[in-house]
Amino acid sequence: MKVKKIMADKIQKPESEWQTCLTPEEYRILREKGTEAAFTGEYYHYKENGTYVCAACGNELFSSKTKYESGSGWPSFYEAIAEGKINYIEDNSLGMKRIEILCAKCDSHLGHVFNDGPKPTGKRYCVNSVSLDFNKKE
Ligand code: FE
Repeated sequence: MKVKKIMADKIQKPESEWQTCLTPEEYRILREKGTEAAFTGEYYHYKENGTYVCAACGNELFSSKTKYESGSGWPSFYEAIAEGKINYIEDNSLGMKRIEILCAKCDSHLGHVFNDGPKPTGKRYCVNSVSLDFNKKE
């Protein structure tokens, strides 16, 4: 896929500040690009209607309408909620060529996007539950 970096209205805080406002597990995943254990996240099987937002800054990221069961062990979506909400960067760590996805607003790590998703996009946004909060649709 095309790699692009979009400047949104940025939230920039020193890492020391993130460390105080996030839990240790959130900090490890969001700020240190960690990964939660597969099949353990609170949103993996979650099926409510609403909007998934960045756990660090509240930026809207995914609609529940685009969530699907990927079998991967992590919440999976086939599309971002809107253009410019997510940044994409090449990640060549661990001997793999992957595209990392980041919150465009606060640069927190969300997960990765792969090309083995369902129609209509063929994308699989593979996201840590820890990186997400959920706003239920009333
Ligand atoms: Fe964010």
